[in-house]
Amino acid sequence: MPKKLKKLYEGKAKIVYETEEPDKLILHFKDTATAFDGVKKAELKGKGALNNTISSLIFEILHEHGIKTHFIEKLSDNEMLVWRAERFLVETVVRNFAAGSVVKRLGFKEGEKFKKPLVEFFYKNDELHDPLVCEPHIELMNLAPIEAIPVMRETALKVNEILSKFFKEHGMVLVDFKLEFGKLPDGSVGIVDEISPDSMRLWDANTGEKLDKDRFRFDLGDLLEGYRKILKRIS
Ligand code: UDP
Repeated sequence: MPKKLKKLYEGKAKIVYETEEPDKLILHFKDTATAFDGVKKAELKGKGALNNTISSLIFEILHEHGIKTHFIEKLSDNEMLVWRAERFLVETVVRNFAAGSVVKRLGFKEGEKFKKPLVEFFYKNDELHDPLVCEPHIELMNLAPIEAIPVMRETALKVNEILSKFFKEHGMVLVDFKLEFGKLPDGSVGIVDEISPDSMRLWDANTGEKLDKDRFRFDLGDLLEGYRKILKRIS
């Protein structure tokens, strides 16, 4: 079992530790829920384990489909082992249905189905509230290597196909999700961070019940109950 050494970084939902192997890190998933750039915050016992478990499962599915990610293995309830990566400063969002910021910003009706999946990039910067950016911004501000932009877009669309089908088979609709990318130790571009109900919108296919972090954002119901329902269906 790899040992946790120095704490490298603590974020809103995770702590990153170094291990004895310089190329490998341990991610510890915290029991903290945050929304609106950290303005809304709560401690929810069990949340870290749920996100770690769901995220590990999703990474395994992506690996089966040949998608490169930083995931190596799940170590314990709250920890996973990952490859160290140089993280890019962009978030890649894929949307199948309108929700969240596209409803507020562009006037789509919530739940409206898009003709084809929409891919967007956001600048990872809490102070600026993660603004939407275009390719020229990514290049100008050096948020990610220019050659990584098509890789991020194509990988995100492939992940969307895989996960939309997967969740559909388990009675859920993948409305949208966010991915982060970085450069892995072998020099390739891969998915980093987590892929969990914190970073996606998942609705029950029959009732439309929201099972993701929107429960916490908008006080729609017990967050962990939603996450437990997701895990139960996919495992
Ligand atoms: N998202 C995320 N982290 C962010 C912003 C968004 O994981 O910092 C996810 C969010 O959960 C949703 C998708 O990306 O599944 C699209 O989010 P949106 O742009 O609608 O922003 P929101 O209104 O959720 O802040």
